Amino acid sequence: MTKQSADYELLTTPDPRLRRKSTKVHEIDDEVRDIVAKMNRACIEWEKTHEHELSAAMAAPQLGFNRRIIVVREDMSDKANANFIALINPEVIKTEGKIDYDYEGCLSVPAIYGKVPRPSKARIKATLLDGAEVRLKPAGFLARTLLHEIDHLDGILFIDHIKDDPQAFYRLDDKGDLIPLDYEKHIKGNKALFPDDDEA
Ligand SMILES: [Zn+2]
Repeated sequence: MTKQSADYELLTTPDPRLRRKSTKVHEIDDEVRDIVAKMNRACIEWEKTHEHELSAAMAAPQLGFNRRIIVVREDMSDKANANFIALINPEVIKTEGKIDYDYEGCLSVPAIYGKVPRPSKARIKATLLDGAEVRLKPAGFLARTLLHEIDHLDGILFIDHIKDDPQAFYRLDDKGDLIPLDYEKHIKGNKALFPDDDEA
């Protein structure tokens, strides 16, 4: 199994490290490049065992690195293209457009999908691995993906946006179809998903 030889660990709920705020990268050094390489590999390895799913992106805290780094698939419509683009210190400058609802999943939230409200457009700035600063104006699914990943850097998971919506949760069946999940049974009051619920 490839799992035993992997030099990274994919964190899943309820690991408390997923709930921490990540720190800014001040220098793009070998350590940062190594984290990015591990993220790319982790996405591709995960995909091999999830035939109906695509690893669209990942955030560094999902591998236990609390640094502000995300990687995004170069071409999200082509599973054969295994290239990812790394964004360092990505920052949402503003969000725009209407609120869209669409399905999201997360490598760190196994077996659960959600219909999540997000703004349809965003303005984001970030630094590339070569140090160049970029400004992006993503829309639609790319905006959704980037907002999901940047949330990770602040310890926020997609389930947090829908935790009180009984209709928003789904699971994937064997054929790759999304079917509604029993909210009362699997989601409501689930401490593995929402560890801070006591504060409410
Ligand atoms: Zn995620």
